[in-house]
Amino acid sequence: MADFVIETEGLTKKYIHNKEAVSSLDLKVPKGSVYVFIGRNGAGKTTTIRILMGLLQKTDGKAEVLGMNPDKDPVPIKKRVGYVADNQKMYDWMTVEETINFCSPFYPTWNNALSEDLLKRFELPRTAKVKDLSRGMNGKLALLLALAHQPELLILDDPTSGLDPVVRREFLQGIIEVIHQEAKTVFFSTHIITEAEQIADYVGIIEEGKLMLSQPLDKLKDSMKQIRLIFEDKIPNTISFPELLKKEMLGHEVVLTVKDYTPDVLKKLDEFNPKSTEVLDFTLEDIFVSLVGKEKTT
Ligand code: ATP
Repeated sequence: MADFVIETEGLTKKYIHNKEAVSSLDLKVPKGSVYVFIGRNGAGKTTTIRILMGLLQKTDGKAEVLGMNPDKDPVPIKKRVGYVADNQKMYDWMTVEETINFCSPFYPTWNNALSEDLLKRFELPRTAKVKDLSRGMNGKLALLLALAHQPELLILDDPTSGLDPVVRREFLQGIIEVIHQEAKTVFFSTHIITEAEQIADYVGIIEEGKLMLSQPLDKLKDSMKQIRLIFEDKIPNTISFPELLKKEMLGHEVVLTVKDYTPDVLKKLDEFNPKSTEVLDFTLEDIFVSLVGKEKTT
């Protein structure tokens, strides 16, 4: 357990009268990593995170956060984890400074100097009321509150949703700086894939409550490729092999989406005598669409 700060086994959540929102999820988040948890709207990200934070009861399976059981130890988990919820709520009649003063006593590990530093770095106006903050500022205040008690684990539920691209980038930059300074583990859910790609060490893809994939990002990008083949004549209709995920044909050209890529795949394709063969890299967004898109191999 020591190597993973979050570990679930067969984690399942069924809301009343609904299908499983989270379905037999086996999640392992390595200590010290930035693990990005991506999935479409309604895929089950918030449900998973709320279970991990002890805010929602699971239906079945096991979950551990920093070696603790969220059902039994929700308070110690909240003290040791920096959590930013989806649509984080704060008292809107308080000022920024009052919010910080209100939250800090809950945490024995609160670091006033770090809180001051973040306040300046995020350019948060001390005397502004929470209700008057922009969404970006609101997100930054939530992040400050999550960071200033120096948690060993940050769990951020779609913290940049609804922010414009400029603010999103500033916000991510804030996260990146802190991560690098403090060597923390970050578990970060999002459906904005391009931002996941900027900061992730590990990627988990969830679709309809199921974990489709969980891998180091560099390994994932090495293992998934597109192969473009051009044929002199008709495209052979027998191109099929276990690693093939998708096949798109246009005229004399066929583009194959391949998982678990190795040069052996090219050897298999040589047997079809293509005029030219080109191996193309995928972006994380391409990989995501290939895995959760509804198209199938034909
Ligand atoms: P988003 O990116 O849109 O926030 P998500 O990946 O966080 O989505 P969840 O909010 O976990 O997804 O929702 C997963 C599924 O569970 C969805 O089908 C959703 O409609 C359903 N669901 C979520 N909360 C409840 C609830 N309180 N009661 C019933 N069904 C719910």
